[in-house]
Amino acid sequence: MTEVTLSNVVKRYGKHQAVHGIDLGIADGEFVVLVGPSGCGKSTTLRMIAGLEDISGGEISIGGRVVNDLPPRERNISMVFQNYALYPHMTVRENLGFSLSIAKKPVAEIESAVRQAAEILGLDELMERKPAELSGGQRQRVAMGRAIVRHPDVFLFDEPLSNLDAKLRTQMRVEIKKLHQKVGNTIIYVTHDQVEAMTLADRIVLMRDGHIVQVGTPLELFNKPVDTFVATFIGSPPMNLINGTVMGAEVIQLADGVSVPVPSSARGLVTDGQKVHFGFRADNLMPEGHSVQEEGEKASLDLSVTLTEPLGTETLLFTEIAGTEVQAKMLNPRPVRPGEKLTFQLMLDKCHVFDAASSNAIRS
Ligand code: ADP
Ligand code: MG
Repeated sequence: MTEVTLSNVVKRYGKHQAVHGIDLGIADGEFVVLVGPSGCGKSTTLRMIAGLEDISGGEISIGGRVVNDLPPRERNISMVFQNYALYPHMTVRENLGFSLSIAKKPVAEIESAVRQAAEILGLDELMERKPAELSGGQRQRVAMGRAIVRHPDVFLFDEPLSNLDAKLRTQMRVEIKKLHQKVGNTIIYVTHDQVEAMTLADRIVLMRDGHIVQVGTPLELFNKPVDTFVATFIGSPPMNLINGTVMGAEVIQLADGVSVPVPSSARGLVTDGQKVHFGFRADNLMPEGHSVQEEGEKASLDLSVTLTEPLGTETLLFTEIAGTEVQAKMLNPRPVRPGEKLTFQLMLDKCHVFDAASSNAIRS
């Protein structure tokens, strides 16, 4: 069983604190993605788990064993980096088997492990090639194969797809997910890309400035973001946010005389005069006749479209509510002219309220 536990893990580089006392429990076989903006401490956290960075405080255990003072090779982990780090003068076969050779494993065992990895990753045809004769995606597969042959308890990935073009990135994402389904190891995966996090993770750990902001399944973060940072980081386009003030207990006054009811999830939790951000996703603001037919409380808004982005099955519509640019979605799209006025339905049950002072969600 290989669960990974971080207790109050701290990293300081001189005076700069890169990681501020992180607590995180990762279950055996779980696929956990650390995501967040550049510089938030993802790689540092991963490298501390790998043993490539000392920790300045706290405790890390892997499979129930405290590893704080164990060198990387004794932690039974394999790490895949963004730049692959393949040996250029070796063939794919030699690259795959190299770590086992230097560990002086018996030849038969090495051959069997290499064959198995090649099969899992579809590398059979490429075994005698050198890295220079491979495409980016193939090199990435070899890098993963090299991690697999060691039968690690835990795979650590640091932005493994960042050097690939968009199309290949999507393909490799699926391969990594299939790999996890086949081998079932614990995976800790670092990326700055929220789409990768959403599509790959059993659980997402969203970080900011060396802190964990929210941990949960992709849908938990999407549907119940704890604050405006999560609301705008997860999901594309980002959640629309409009400044408002609570009037009485039932109404949020936006600018320009526009007001909306307090969404049911926040009723009874806001106070008269409270400054808030009113939030909703593009999916919850759709023109009449081009929306999902859903039960629930709705508000009607007549809005002018300023710009359109046709995506095929849907079109993103840019418009303004109370002086703030927001994005809406049109299903079964028809062409829309800039300046055209449409009646939109806002799904109030799906809307969010955040306290303006703290940015925290107000939700029962
Ligand atoms: P991420 O992977 O999320 O982009 P990192 O973990 O690489 O972020 O970095 C977190 C913070 O720690 C950043 O502010 C970075 O500048 C700092 N940092 C990372 N490595 C070092 C180092 N070796 N020395 C000093 N500061 C570092
Ligand atoms: Mg990084």
